[in-house]
Amino acid sequence: MQFKNFVTAAIMLLGATGMAQADDTPTYSLVIHGGAGTITPDKLTPELEAEIRADLNHALEAGQTVLKNGGAALDAVTAAIQVLENSPHFNAGRGAVFTAEGKNEMDSAIMDGKTLNAGAVASVTHVKNPILLARAVMEKSQHVMLQGPGAEQFADENGIERADDAYFFTDYRWGQLQSAKAKGSSAVLDHDIEYKYGTVGAVARDTHGNLAAGTSTGGMTNKAHGRIGDSPIIGAGTYANNASCAVSATGHGEFFIRATVAHSICALMEYGGLDLQAAADRIVMQQLVEMGGDGGIIAVDKNGNMSQTFNTPGMFRGKVGSDTPASVAIYKE
Ligand code: ASP
Repeated sequence: MQFKNFVTAAIMLLGATGMAQADDTPTYSLVIHGGAGTITPDKLTPELEAEIRADLNHALEAGQTVLKNGGAALDAVTAAIQVLENSPHFNAGRGAVFTAEGKNEMDSAIMDGKTLNAGAVASVTHVKNPILLARAVMEKSQHVMLQGPGAEQFADENGIERADDAYFFTDYRWGQLQSAKAKGSSAVLDHDIEYKYGTVGAVARDTHGNLAAGTSTGGMTNKAHGRIGDSPIIGAGTYANNASCAVSATGHGEFFIRATVAHSICALMEYGGLDLQAAADRIVMQQLVEMGGDGGIIAVDKNGNMSQTFNTPGMFRGKVGSDTPASVAIYKE
């Protein structure tokens, strides 16, 4: 009898301890995107779709490995984006789209929600992983944004790997440029969304409660030499603040800049008291739609809530959290 009581007490104690541990377990969240646009099943072969899903899963794994070991949101975002930049299937790093002159000009940014430090690069042509250069600008320079030759010089000074034209080239993106040119400049002016999807981004909340956001892109096919989109503009395509949320955007950059999309979502939370999804809907599904800007965002808030919100037929995306199994998706559900 006494022994039975002891066992019962021990089981209850163990149960209570187990529950306390479960409740105290630090949580993390990670959301990624690989661009939004007219992505419908007829646009992708089953093989290509499988490869893209595999890349998205690898990116989630890279970021999750950092987060589940107690690593920083900044490191998770960097790791996930690097995987997508290295894949030829996305419009960032290898596989970046071409300008009207047949060159690659890439933009990228990263932001630390804890310190509000940020780093960005624009119009870089031969940097293998623009996200690493953006991070170096944040951590090793006095500045927030470097562009063009100055950014490349900074890459050399800081041991950031460069790559030649052949590394970035893909037949697919070259074909897109030829077809955009055949249609005339309307492909860019009317923003034919077939020609631009594939920007990549990641947002994370780590087990310490810190947020980070990053974005990397080749911009838009057939864009003018020197054109800079929303991705490297802090507050437009990329923003993170521990007080509210972290956001990475993808879509028609000119609209995203004018709507200061990423910061507006965080501001609606911080000053307007909206929850994450209401804030994302207000900007992406209402304001951008009214303005005529297509695209979407991924976001995570200070409590680890995640959002994937887009006003286009599809967005390459994935998410995982300490309480959320990994999943990737492409089309509207
Ligand atoms: N937002 C990017 C830009 O305008 C393009 C994209 O996300 O597809 O440069």
